[in-house]
Amino acid sequence: MEQTFVMVKPDGVQRGLVGEIVARLERRGLKLVGAKFMQVSQELAAEHYAELKDKPFYPGLIDYITSAPVLAMAWEGKNAVGAVRQTLGATKPSEAAPGSIRHDYGMDVGRNLAHGSDSPENGAREVALWFQPEELVSWERATDAWIFE
Ligand code: UDP
Repeated sequence: MEQTFVMVKPDGVQRGLVGEIVARLERRGLKLVGAKFMQVSQELAAEHYAELKDKPFYPGLIDYITSAPVLAMAWEGKNAVGAVRQTLGATKPSEAAPGSIRHDYGMDVGRNLAHGSDSPENGAREVALWFQPEELVSWERATDAWIFE
């Protein structure tokens, strides 16, 4: 099963949207396999966003991600990466589809509430970056046969 890394960013935590974001992913049918509430270090932020190092918004992005706690999570499912991206909506809340998290709760690209890996390769890379193997839980969910054919 595909895994993806999801993070409720500092604005999502500060605004009390942790439960809402987790609930939407659960209801979609994704399975939670790891979670931790944490303050992100400069080093971890830099490693996570290494591909964006030369972007003009990079310094502000690092400040934002390290400014307050986040909820880091690993979710699993068939096409989990794509399903999470769809549930989150486009990067810019102004372009996100109605009904998506970033549309329904967001206004600005620099405060877009949550992160989801953008490819299966990055999903695997980011889950391994944020979680030790023993922090991930492999479990049978009783409803799996009612969610996946
Ligand atoms: N970002 C920003 N300004 C921009 C583009 C991106 O602040 O003009 C931030 C935003 O928080 C976004 C993150 O940088 O979620 C990573 O950007 P990416 O293009 O990888 O989007 P994502 O994969 O998060 O949708």
